[in-house]
Amino acid sequence: MMNESNRSQLLNISIDQTYPQLPWLLGEDFPSFRIQLERLRWEGSDQELLNLFKPYPIAYRRLLTNLLLLAAFRNSFNDKIFTSVATTFRCPEGPHEVEAKNVKDRNVDGNALCPDHKKPMTPVGQP
Ligand SMILES: [Zn+2]
Repeated sequence: MMNESNRSQLLNISIDQTYPQLPWLLGEDFPSFRIQLERLRWEGSDQELLNLFKPYPIAYRRLLTNLLLLAAFRNSFNDKIFTSVATTFRCPEGPHEVEAKNVKDRNVDGNALCPDHKKPMTPVGQP
C-alpha cells in the first residue's frame, strides 16, 4: 500500500511527463494554467491538481494514462487516485469483475471492496 507522499510523487512524475505537451494542448490557456499548476504543486492536494486538468480532456486523459502506466510499472494499482477513475474492478476471489457502479463499500485505504466477497479489488480500465 502506498502512502500519501508516494502518491503525490507519482502524480508529480506524471505531470512532468505530460508537461511538455501542455503548451499546444492548452493553447492560449497555457500561461494561466501554468501559474495555477505551479501554485498547486506547492500547496495543493492531489485532487486539486487533477481538477485543474479536468477542463482539458486531452491533457487530463494523458495525465491519467501516464499515472496508470506508472502505477502498473510500480505495481501499485490499489492507490486511491486509480480506484477513483476506474470503471471496472477485479476481485481476487474467482477472479471475477465488478462494475464501479456496483461497488458499495471501500476499506480504510480507499480500495473498492467486492460486494460479494468483501475483498479489496484491483481497478481495471478508466473512463
Ligand atoms: Zn468477489
